[in-house]
Parts: sequence; structure tokens; C-alpha cells
Amino acid sequence: AAEPEPLLSTDALRKEFGGLVATDDVSLTVSPGERRCLIGPNGAGKSTLVSLITGQLDPTAGSIRFAGEGIDGLSPHERVDRGLSVKFQVPSVYGEFSTRENLRLALQRRQSGEALKEAIDASLERFDLTEEAGIRADALSHGEKQRLEIAMASALDPALLLLDEPVAGLSVEETERIADLLIELNESAGVALLVIEHDMAFVRAIAERVTVLHQGSILTEGEMEAVANDPTVRDVYLGE
Ligand code: ADP
Ligand code: MG
Repeated sequence: AAEPEPLLSTDALRKEFGGLVATDDVSLTVSPGERRCLIGPNGAGKSTLVSLITGQLDPTAGSIRFAGEGIDGLSPHERVDRGLSVKFQVPSVYGEFSTRENLRLALQRRQSGEALKEAIDASLERFDLTEEAGIRADALSHGEKQRLEIAMASALDPALLLLDEPVAGLSVEETERIADLLIELNESAGVALLVIEHDMAFVRAIAERVTVLHQGSILTEGEMEAVANDPTVRDVYLGE
């Protein structure tokens, strides 16, 4: 039988910054509904790859397909409208607004009136932020802020959610909580996940497959156990 078409595929994606090659010939595919983690040492090109996929950066060469179409000319906004959502490494909640108002801003692109109110309440509930609804976002704990950002990124029912280091600096408890939330989002809503993370317990908990990036290129790809036991992967991390 023919393979189903991937949800996302990058074809020989390359990004140069001056003389530096940040991503080199990256061909990556993510299937609909898949949970994938992208790992690799600092400077491997992970965040650059995310920015190329979301359209924040233009590639030097290569192309990207999403949901059956080329998306190379599209703006970040147009990509979001097609179901490609992102939570960047740098926090981007509106600090002076409450948790509820942040969610309203994210959800009101699709809904209004009573439906909007219900969607906000459902999102607060799902991401365990009901008690924090009236609190200014800049007064939330780091973990609550991450949950709010994930809630905002998933507000528009994306087909794919990209997350750049969603649990960096979080406690073990908050990390497990976010892992559970992401798995729930994936299983109940079918959202495919492409998650960059260094925390290996977290990666182990959520990833069905792992892709290892090293010096801008894909070093290997596979199930977590196989990747974790791969001597070339160990060398890359030991050499960090
Ligand atoms: P990672 O997220 O895996 O740590 P990055 O994608 O942030 O890696 O960076 C990959 C390489 O590209 C690094 O050498 C980094 O210094 C360089 N780089 C990233 N963004 C820029 C930029 N805007 N200008 C110049 N160099 C950059
Ligand atoms: Mg990064």
C-alpha cells in the first residue's frame, strides 16, 4: 500500500547566516497525528529549523510542504491559518493581560460571543488554569506560563504543534504535567507534535520517534531506545 502523505515534509532545507551553515540539507517528515521529538546539542540548528518551518526565517535553499501543499511563499500568519502552530523558545504571553485575556486574544480569531466564552473556559479547564484565570500573565509561575502558551498555541485546533523547549527550567512535577497535557492533546484532538527538548525523561515520555540533529544535519532517526543506545549519538552528547 502507498504510504499516507506526510503532514509536514522539509526537502533539503538549508539556512546560512553569513558564512555559518545553521541547517544543512534537512529532509524531515512528520506524519499526521505523530508525536516526534527533535533533539541535539546546543547550536545543532533546532531552533533555526523551527523558524524555517513557521516562516519566521526564509531558507537559503530547499522547500517545505504542509498538509499537501507547498508553503514556501506563505507568511507565518498564513501558516498558522493552515494549521501549523508554534510555541517558541522565548515566552510570548502578554504579561500585562490576565490569563483569561491572553486566551481570549488567541481564540477570538475563530470565535465570538457565547462560543468564545465557552472555548476560553474549556481551554482554562484543559490546561488546568481555571484558578489562575484572573491573574496577570507576568505573575504566573514559569510552569503556568508555559501551560498558558501551549493553550494559546493550540487554540486554533492546529494539525501540527511545534514546541521549542516547553519544559526547560521546570520542576519534575511541572514537566510531567506538561507531558500528560501534550499526550492528551495528541490523543484526543489528533494534534501532531514536533517537540524540541533536552530533558530526556520528557522526551522518553512523549516521543514515538526521535530525530537527532547535529551540526545542522540529521544524524539519525528512530525509536527512543534505539536512538539512546546509538554510539554516534552518545559521542555527539559527550563531545558537547
Ligand atoms: P539550537 O536551537 O539547536 O541550539 P540554533 O538553531 O539556535 O541551534 O543555532 C544554530 C546555529 O546557527 C548556531 O551556531 C547559532 O549561533 C547560529 N544562529 C542561529 N540564529 C542565528 C542568527 N539569527 N544569526 C546568526 N547566526 C545564528
Ligand atoms: Mg534552540
